[in-house]
Amino acid sequence: MLDQISKDTFQNQVDVTKVYDLVVIGAGVAGLNALYAATRYLPKGSSVLLLDEKAMAGGMWNTAYDFVRLHQPHPMFTVGDLRWDWRKPRDYLARRDEVRDHLSSSLESVAKLVNLDCCFETKVVSSNEVGTSEGYRARIVFHRNDHPDQKATIEARQAVYAPGLNYKETQPLAFSTDAVASIIPQDLLETLKSHPSTPVYVVGGGKTGMDTVLAVLAKGDGRKVSLINGRGTNFLNRTKYIPNGLKRWTSGLPVSRLFRDLALKFDGDNETQTIDHFRRHHATDTQSPNGVFLYGLQSEEEHHRIASGLQQTIGDYLVDVAGTQEGLEILLRNGEPLEVEPGSIFVNCTGSFFRADEMAEPMSCISPHGTIVSINARDAFHFLTSVAGFFLMHLLYRGELRGRGFYTLDLEALFRKDRNAWVGASAAQAYMNQVIAVQTLPMMLLDRCGLDLDRWYPFPRRMAALYQMKATANEDIAHCRAVLDRVADRFEVRCASLN
Ligand SMILES: Cc1cc2nc3c(=O)[nH]c(=O)nc-3n(C[C@H](O)[C@H](O)[C@H](O)COP(=O)(O)OP(=O)(O)OC[C@H]3O[C@@H](n4cnc5c(N)ncnc54)[C@H](O)[C@@H]3O)c2cc1C
Repeated sequence: MLDQISKDTFQNQVDVTKVYDLVVIGAGVAGLNALYAATRYLPKGSSVLLLDEKAMAGGMWNTAYDFVRLHQPHPMFTVGDLRWDWRKPRDYLARRDEVRDHLSSSLESVAKLVNLDCCFETKVVSSNEVGTSEGYRARIVFHRNDHPDQKATIEARQAVYAPGLNYKETQPLAFSTDAVASIIPQDLLETLKSHPSTPVYVVGGGKTGMDTVLAVLAKGDGRKVSLINGRGTNFLNRTKYIPNGLKRWTSGLPVSRLFRDLALKFDGDNETQTIDHFRRHHATDTQSPNGVFLYGLQSEEEHHRIASGLQQTIGDYLVDVAGTQEGLEILLRNGEPLEVEPGSIFVNCTGSFFRADEMAEPMSCISPHGTIVSINARDAFHFLTSVAGFFLMHLLYRGELRGRGFYTLDLEALFRKDRNAWVGASAAQAYMNQVIAVQTLPMMLLDRCGLDLDRWYPFPRRMAALYQMKATANEDIAHCRAVLDRVADRFEVRCASLN
């Protein structure tokens, strides 16, 4: 397929003499959804430029660890309503390179509608709204990755800035001893080869941790695998909520209903109870003491494979691995030291989002004169950047973005203050913005959001969910707004209506 849309496909050139109709910065799923949505409104042949510092489109799916897989069915991870160009079962969980190639292939569809230039391996250093004799414009300064000193400037009538979440490249954990192997998931498969049969400690129980446990167990070499998982992470039960076959008609629950449940459970103060409620009703391990939820999905089968394959699960935080008088030991924040075999492998799966030392610079979701839309976590429209990209552009081009009651939220600041309040607030925001979008946008357009997990269900069930949503829209919006205002006050984070 398409032999990767890469730097050669669109000549990798920018015409600095022209004013582009649209410039998109960031070719991840968010920027691509924004770009694809914009093509529905731009006249045919409009001049569009896509810039990214990576060598091709696909964003983090270019650089994530090689054994990562989507945790939702692949049809629901797409650009606009583009279908995957293959015949795989609907519930197939696509691999890293498959996801990257699918995202990248969306540029072929875009290039049929607009005059598209792509410039990869190019870093944008600033994008600002400026007043010109022709009206307000976005002014973008960039340079090729290998020529940071040679900056160029272009202007655009509209720009989208979609740089992804504030992401810290994972590093191996630093220990006082070098008698164990400390690695990142990207190095797992090679390290397993070079360290046959040594025990593995997976540090972190989120999606990356679960992928890592499964990858080690899949080797079937009988080595011991342990999980150090802090407060423990809950996963949404994919078996229950993404059922197969006839069960799509008879069981499960459209995910929008699930979001409503979480949004209404949260009152702005009860984040711990909200997570408990989630675990008891919607998680794969309803009986566990797990105290965190980060929107990961897991099937019951994966849960059982992990639970039965692990030698031990340590509900604590790793502080160090050190040589002591007693021998080589794992030191935990609250627990007794644990003996560890020399040569053991420690995989850092402690997460990378919002872990940079500094928070990302605040940036408005929309610039004062509307020329720059920014899909960022400091003034976020939706915790899923892909969904934000889709809706922000449709609403912008239709003149429906401001004054409708959509809320933006500083997701990064809230995440750093309280992860469970972050879940409650992001669920309330996502649900409220979806309800307002349903009230604002035509049905035909809503149905073209391929990212919507409700699309897993047959059309009549989706319609029923939509009518239920409409029936309680006003009281649900009022609840979510009150909750978000409370969170803004309590945590002193920016959370307000887009006016
Ligand atoms: C390991 C892992 C697994 C995940 N699994 C899932 C999953 O199964 N399902 C799911 O829905 N989500 C998953 N996610 C969440 C993931 O972040 C989103 O799915 C999504 O891919 C993020 O897209 P994005 O476009 O916002 O950011 P990115 O994919 O990070 O894309 C941003 C792009 O902007 C470019 N860029 C940034 N700054 C500049 C600049 N100054 N100049 C030029 N270019 C710039 C970057 O090079 C990058 O290509 C996962 C995340 C991780 C880390």
